[in-house]
Amino acid sequence: MGHLISGRRSVPAFRTEVEARAGCGVLACFQCGKCGAGCPLQEHLDYSPSQIIHLIRLGQEETVLASKAIWLCASCETCTTRCPQGVDIARVMDAARSLAFDRRVPSAVPSVPSFYKATRANLMKFGRMFEVWLLASLKLRTGDITKDMDLGRKMMAKRKLNLFPTWNRVWETRAIFKRVARIEKERAAERAADTQSGSGSAGGAAASPREGGPGNASGGGNS
Ligand code: SF4
Ligand code: SF4
Repeated sequence: MGHLISGRRSVPAFRTEVEARAGCGVLACFQCGKCGAGCPLQEHLDYSPSQIIHLIRLGQEETVLASKAIWLCASCETCTTRCPQGVDIARVMDAARSLAFDRRVPSAVPSVPSFYKATRANLMKFGRMFEVWLLASLKLRTGDITKDMDLGRKMMAKRKLNLFPTWNRVWETRAIFKRVARIEKERAAERAADTQSGSGSAGGAAASPREGGPGNASGGGNS
């Protein structure tokens, strides 16, 4: 795990990377646990939201990126709403997830990135959800062919699944994805420049009280 030297302090590089991606800091957390207490997925997570925040503060990159929690988080933002310190935990989870994705760390819950990829491919192809194609694509990616077959049959019987696709503004949808890719590339270049200069945008995001915190000011996230 690398460290950046910022002023007189040694700042874990992993923490600054996550903070820069999330657009908010994690140092304001005082481990009250309110985030985890409200998380609807808490019982399924290997680390609670507050534990993830603490691990990031400690620069525990391998543990965080290999955790189930970052993949199971549904980005519902309950934790973010409950945090008295203005830590945007949902964005932090999102940032850790995108970091794991970019660094090709194998997901602890492989079906989640498979679902993301299948959904993206579906939208790029049809401009909207075509569920039958999505399910087929997902099953090919996961190799789990038979799961949910009964449910699929029931949905078809009730005409909840269309057997034929409809296309909707495909070029506009592709343009949106292209634009997001360009923005992400620009942001990655900015982060790299910050890291090289040693200033690190996360340094300014280290403390993020709810009102006027850097997380609110950034106006952009990965989700
Ligand atoms: S992130 Fe916020 S809600 Fe969660 S433990 Fe820290 S201060 Fe409490
Ligand atoms: S955003 Fe994620 S971590 Fe936060 S409450 Fe929702 S599921 Fe839990």
